Amino acid sequence: MNAAIITIGDELLNGQTIDTNSSWLAQELNLLGINIALKFSCGDSQEPVRDALQLSSERADLIITTGGLGPTKDDITKKSICDFLSDELRFDQGTYDNILALLKSRGRGMTELHKNQCYMPGSAKLIANSQGTAPGMWMEHEGKIYLALPGVPREMKAIMKPLGLGMIANRFSGEYIIHSFIQTAGCGETIISEAIQPIVDRFPASLSIAYLPSIASVKLRITAKGKDFDILQTWVKKFTDEISFEIKEHVYGFGELTLSEAVGQLCLRYKIKLATAESCTGGLLAQLITSISGASSYYQGSIVAYSNELKMNLLRVPDDLLALQGAVSEAVVKQMVRGAIAATNADVAIATSGIAGPTGGSIDKPVGTIWIAVGTRETQETVKLQLNKDRIGNVQYTAVTALNMMRKFIEKNFA
Ligand code: ATP
Ligand code: MG
Repeated sequence: MNAAIITIGDELLNGQTIDTNSSWLAQELNLLGINIALKFSCGDSQEPVRDALQLSSERADLIITTGGLGPTKDDITKKSICDFLSDELRFDQGTYDNILALLKSRGRGMTELHKNQCYMPGSAKLIANSQGTAPGMWMEHEGKIYLALPGVPREMKAIMKPLGLGMIANRFSGEYIIHSFIQTAGCGETIISEAIQPIVDRFPASLSIAYLPSIASVKLRITAKGKDFDILQTWVKKFTDEISFEIKEHVYGFGELTLSEAVGQLCLRYKIKLATAESCTGGLLAQLITSISGASSYYQGSIVAYSNELKMNLLRVPDDLLALQGAVSEAVVKQMVRGAIAATNADVAIATSGIAGPTGGSIDKPVGTIWIAVGTRETQETVKLQLNKDRIGNVQYTAVTALNMMRKFIEKNFA
């Protein structure tokens, strides 16, 4: 089974936008066992799109386009596909009603441009788009499937995730594919895979596992593939439970949960107020924590105390401690936790201090030396990291590790 992907948009060719749609689609189609034979990017004009359609139709069974459906772009994708398939555009009342409702909910009215968007290739089966005005268009011609999707990545995924991918899978294999995700932090993928190998060895043939590492965290994806949906679901649940139990101290959640969300949920559950005192992370902890909607109900804020002066004035780190131990030290990060709690009235705080590099290291404290403390006014736990990434990598690793320490601290002390 071969597919071709055609991404459409001038911005993809002049370098202003990186084509993320085709890599996302390719990964998702690969998971369905579909091979990508060709990939094209075309500007907003009909000729190159027609050429790409021609070559794709010679080599692929499934041809997916993204982009060129918006009201301002003269609908070049629809016109090109219609010409290519000898189809014609027809007014679609359902699309009109959807656009009208969407505009109404945004307090706007229908314009001529919007009305133009309601014309669809006559043979197209439309796939709902919960995020925008252009639905997906599924067309069949001479044994090939043509699927036209909007360019905005969020809209493209809103069509493919709930419906489009399932339609493709069903069409080409009659098989179902189910995923389950286990989110872990603070442990490398080799250690995790060794720990769970005995369980993975017992997987039925329909199940597989993938390790998807990112900064200081690993996402496990368990995939089941087969014809009996109920059996697949039972297997996925059973093995997700077994694996997450085996590595439970590293598991912070399931599905698409992020570590910041997990910490937020714990703060809400135990009615804890959180603060941060950041030196080397420079506000990244605050950014991660406040990226979660509703963070204001548990997050007091951050004191980004980069200089010794601010560590003394805002976090009450004694000057003799700084002189004796240096800013990158266990005693200083512990005091930063206490100082942040005193300054913000929080219950718990996270503090970071380190040498992110590439300059600033010494023999005693080489680049990558990082101290993290988490705790309450009374007790703090600390960790010393010795990292060897670039500056940004060191800072990101520190922030994720610190959040994970706070998660474990709350689970241990408040649960
Ligand atoms: P459509 O929504 O169908 O693309 P359009 O072409 O009229 O209609 P644009 O104004 O081009 O819409 O906006 C599309 C948006 O989606 C732009 O922000 C663009 O950068 C982004 N985009 C388009 N194609 C891709 C792609 N292949 N990968 C990542 N982003 C894309
Ligand atoms: Mg476009």
